[in-house]
Order: sequence, then C-alpha cells, then structure tokens
Amino acid sequence: MPGAALPTLEAPCFLCGSAEAEPLWTTPDRAFAVPGRYTVARCRRCGFLFQRPRVRDDRLADCYPDHYPRHQEPSPRIPFKGSAGRVRAARWALATQLGYERFRDPAASALTRLRAAWLARKLQWDCPPWRGQGRYLDVGCGSGGSLGVAQALGWRTAGIEVDTAAAEKARRFASEIHVGDALTAPFAPGRFDVVTAFHVLEHVPDPVAVVRRMLGWLAPGGLAIIEVPNAGGLGAGLFGGAWSGLELPRHLSHFTPESLTRVIEKAGGRVVWLWHQAKPRYYVWSLGFWLRDRGWDRLARLCEWRPVYGMLKLFLELTLPLARWARRGEVIRIGVAKNPPPSGERAG
Ligand SMILES: [Zn+2]
Repeated sequence: MPGAALPTLEAPCFLCGSAEAEPLWTTPDRAFAVPGRYTVARCRRCGFLFQRPRVRDDRLADCYPDHYPRHQEPSPRIPFKGSAGRVRAARWALATQLGYERFRDPAASALTRLRAAWLARKLQWDCPPWRGQGRYLDVGCGSGGSLGVAQALGWRTAGIEVDTAAAEKARRFASEIHVGDALTAPFAPGRFDVVTAFHVLEHVPDPVAVVRRMLGWLAPGGLAIIEVPNAGGLGAGLFGGAWSGLELPRHLSHFTPESLTRVIEKAGGRVVWLWHQAKPRYYVWSLGFWLRDRGWDRLARLCEWRPVYGMLKLFLELTLPLARWARRGEVIRIGVAKNPPPSGERAG
C-alpha cells in the first residue's frame, strides 16, 4: 500500500505534560502497512512511553484499515456453549465466583462444582462480575464482542464506538450505541454499574480524560475494568522495538502497571486489582518481527510454519504461567473504583 506517512504533531507527555522525551524505537506499521515510520519516546521527567511525534487527531481514523479485526463480525465468547455439563459448570462458576446469584442451582453436583472451579479462571476474563442493577457500558466496543457476552449474561447494555461500520454491527447487542468518542458521549453521570474499556486507552490522545469520563459514569459501588498491552512485560523487555504490542501508529500510549496506575489516580480512581495475561501468539508475533528486523526472513517464515508454530506454542503454553506469576504478562487488566469525593473522606 504505497502512500504518504500520516501527518504528525509533537505533543508533550500525555501524563506529566513535559516536552522533553527521548526517542526509543522507530518502526513501520507491521500489522496493516499504514505508510510511514513512527516512533515511541520515553518522557525524560516521568518515564512514560508514548508515540512522539504522534498522528494528528484529524487523521487518527486513517490508522485503521477497513479490515481492522475489531471492526469485523464479532464472535462473543458467551459462556453457555458446549455440553449440558459444561453449561451447568459455567452457571455455577458465574454464581459463586462472579456474583450472578440467579444462576445458582443448589442441586449442582460435586462434579459440576469441581468443573466450575477449573472454568472460573477462564470465565473471569470473558465475563464482567455482576454489580448493582446490571447496567453495563463498553467504551470502544468495536463490533460488539463484549456487549454480546454481557447481553447474554443479562446486563442492560450500552456502547461507545467511533467507527461507524463497527458501531452498526454492535447495535444488535445493545439498546444504546453512541457513535463518536468517549469525551462527547452523552450518557448521564452515575448511570452504569460496570464500565469497561478493552484495548482502548492505548489508542486515545488523552487517556486520563477518558478514564475520568468512565469513572463519572459509575454508580456508587460501580466498577471500571480496563485492559491494555503491558509495556512492562516480558515481551517488551525481550523484543524492544520488535514487541508486537507496539502496534504503531495505532497505539499512542504504552502503559506499564505503574504508569497505568498513575493514569487512574490522576483521573480520580484507585486500582482495586491488577491481573496479568500472557498468550503465546503475542510472543510468536514479536519473535517474527524481531527476526525480520535482522533480515532473517526465512527463519521468521519457518517460525510461522504450522509444525514449528505448534511446537513454539506448546513450549510457551508450558512456560507462560511463569510470566503471569512473575507479573510480567503481555496484557494487564485492572479493576478500578471511583475515589469518594473529598468531603466523604474516611479515616485510614
Ligand atoms: Zn511525563
């Protein structure tokens, strides 16, 4: 795809406002071949990693090709799939681990409960924990994968999506879709019990403002859930400029658990939990980019050849629990609560 690089601007650090940043990595768009080369810089004052210069606001939409995966037909990971036994186990896991009381079946067998304990780990990544009156908002919902899950679990759903075509696909899973960005979405404050943003924050020019908006939409006792790639993880450490999570020019920010926590605190929230996830494909992609950067294209293609890819994947499946355990995952997901207003401060 020939063409000119997207126009950029020299923005200061998104987090501390400092104009001083040193360039770290410069790469082309490895995933979708948007023309140009783009740079990640590190803020000299606070250490935050961000795209600098970054694509101008009025051209951000041009970072996303028509076939961008998140804008395609979604396949929601609805937990009630498979055999009757699996469905019973999923219902028990949702009831006992994630607060879905209406799925509780006192007659559940010991086997169902055992199976549920094993399933719960996966379900907690696919299903939001039940809260309050079950009002759910997904910010940057794409074509509606997460909304589909929430709707199937009994939530009243709403979404925000800037891409018109993706928003149209998401409509079947939500009674309300705002087409536009989070800063202009008209939802009333305190309207939702859970507000999520999965792989959204790294794409927006002002992540603090988006989180502040999300927290504003939470009802008392509500929970915000945010997931981003982890620039403090093992993959970024090993592969540097070849790390698959860089996704230039689409990713404007590169968060670590520390810098994401700073974003949350600046926006008036506090982190209540932080999970790490490590999937083999991220490392295999990074390895391919790393080999190609060194001109070893044949070796890179070898790694993508099914039998070799299968072996790499198996090796990673066995070793990646270590990355999660060491809290150096490829992806971080955090639960965020809104801080009480200053007048309501409690001791301790
Ligand atoms: Zn800074």
